Amino acid sequence: MNEAVFLGLAAALFGAVIGSFLNALSFRFNTGRGMGGRSHCMHCNHELGALDLVPVFSYVYLWGRCRYCDARISLQYPLVEVAAAALALLTYLAHPEPLNFALWLVVWMTLLFTVVYDLRHGIIPWSCSGLLIVLALLYMLTNQPVTLLGALAGPLLALPLFLLSAVSQGRWMGWGDGVLELSLGWFLGLSSGATALMLAFWSGAIVGVGLLMFARVGRRKAMLQFTMRSEVPFAPFLVLGAFLGHFFHVNFFSSLFVLW
Ligand SMILES: [Zn+2]
Repeated sequence: MNEAVFLGLAAALFGAVIGSFLNALSFRFNTGRGMGGRSHCMHCNHELGALDLVPVFSYVYLWGRCRYCDARISLQYPLVEVAAAALALLTYLAHPEPLNFALWLVVWMTLLFTVVYDLRHGIIPWSCSGLLIVLALLYMLTNQPVTLLGALAGPLLALPLFLLSAVSQGRWMGWGDGVLELSLGWFLGLSSGATALMLAFWSGAIVGVGLLMFARVGRRKAMLQFTMRSEVPFAPFLVLGAFLGHFFHVNFFSSLFVLW
């Protein structure tokens, strides 16, 4: 087998395993549940065996149900495992050199965890945003000539989010979103980062309006309360924008900022 193909497959498999770990972490981290111990079924509490814990494969093989009590297994498990595998493969394709691969793998796995955690618990863990800021500074100081614009990219792009948080006292926008954007701005730079932020607002608005319409049409009380609380997690949209910018070089302003 071609070496690059082999390494790409290895990266994807490794990513799937990390995704499986991130799933467990997302249910346990900061929830009072311990981090150690074996995995149990969330429903019947039966201890899970090796056959239940193979990423993606177990879910498909067991038809999405617990082998012991037949309860439905959250779709989060295979989704996060597939997402982690895809991210690891993309990271390998974009950064095949070992050191760069390691850095960006940690970055994207942390971002994936941030998204999952924000969706599940409505909050971004400080340890995640802290780690991302440290990695972003490390990346900025080591991997390119540090420009004033590059150094300002983080604070400048985070500023509108902090303003939204300040004006609404954290109701429209959580404080964690601005802190996350600080690192994303440094990772992407100003033009790509600004593009990512725009994409985040657009996609967030589309999904927000969609949820509202769905709530109106369906008159589903839970969904209505969900949207009225206006706490649609924003980290998924920020990370989606960063994903398009980092891996697919989506950039509306590249020609504009070249002039600076
Ligand atoms: Zn069970």
